[in-house]
Amino acid sequence: MKRVVLAGIGLLVAVAVIGFGIVWFSPAAQDALMRRVVVANIGGNDAVLNEDALHVVLCGTGSPMPDPDRAQACAIVYAGGKVFVVDSGLGGWDRLARFQLPVGGLTGILLTHFHSDHISGIPDIALNSWASGRRQALAVYGPPGVETVVAGFDLAYSLDDGYRIAHHGPEFFAEEGADYQPIVVDVPDRTMAVTVFEEGGVKVTAFRVSHEPVDPAYGYRIDYKDRSVVFSGDTKRDANIATFGEDADVLIHEALAPHMVHMLEEGLDGRGDRRAKIMHDIPDYHATPVQAAESANEAGVKLLVYTHIVPRLPNAIAERVFLRGVSDVRSDGVILGYDGLYLELPAGSDEIVEHDLR
Ligand SMILES: [Zn+2]
Ligand SMILES: [Zn+2]
Repeated sequence: MKRVVLAGIGLLVAVAVIGFGIVWFSPAAQDALMRRVVVANIGGNDAVLNEDALHVVLCGTGSPMPDPDRAQACAIVYAGGKVFVVDSGLGGWDRLARFQLPVGGLTGILLTHFHSDHISGIPDIALNSWASGRRQALAVYGPPGVETVVAGFDLAYSLDDGYRIAHHGPEFFAEEGADYQPIVVDVPDRTMAVTVFEEGGVKVTAFRVSHEPVDPAYGYRIDYKDRSVVFSGDTKRDANIATFGEDADVLIHEALAPHMVHMLEEGLDGRGDRRAKIMHDIPDYHATPVQAAESANEAGVKLLVYTHIVPRLPNAIAERVFLRGVSDVRSDGVILGYDGLYLELPAGSDEIVEHDLR
């Protein structure tokens, strides 16, 4: 018996070595293999276009701090044929492409505020949604000031836009698709939510959160059929999350662990690194994981997902330190968000189906 097993293993190894040898030395075999890999990697993840559900994918759960595992702020929502990107930080497009998510039908970008980690990826989303078939100007919603942000990108990329049109032709890159359409969302005060978009059963509302000196800064709520998702944007603990996120299915809330950031501050300070001051300053305009859990409880949401994770969490121990105290406040319905988390919320149901696109 043992001999038969050994002979079997030997045969498998021999086949693997011969197979590898053929691919290594034969261009024709290499091309056949590459063709299969390429086709597999450009297939679309079209399940998100199913109109019987609200679909939410996180394409960036990091912050301005470098993190090989997390792109900067980015989420994408598919509902009723509409597609919204919520914030657009560096690396968001890389994730959308890696997860093979469709962006040609992009309806618009919703900006919570204009910190660099929420806007630096806009040109990549603009170019790639244009290449994927968007023929109209890209609608960019945001607080007053969005005109300035968009005008800057428009100017900076105007030469590139010209090269693309000249090289591929205006039939492929429709000229209007190179443009931006800034849409100023004015939320007059903290007591109200303003409807930003309402079409085809999809309703987007904006409300104020607290991220001073960035003011105003917004959170967004997207409702589709009977399902809903709320984005906190960047904010310290704010009662508006409970007010305008009431009974939502999913709350995507930012979080910074001050006890960990303080360690960074001490470490930088010990080396005389001036950036210790930044670590000292940032906790005052973000929410802690425990505070986000309290807001989720007050809102009565089914699922809380942490995003905009500060600091970087390189391993399970760091994740545990980050989440310290959360289970005392909220023992169930909490996920530490990650790039590639896809939540599917079927209409007419309470279900939240979690998929991992990584
Ligand atoms: Zn911010
Ligand atoms: Zn931020």
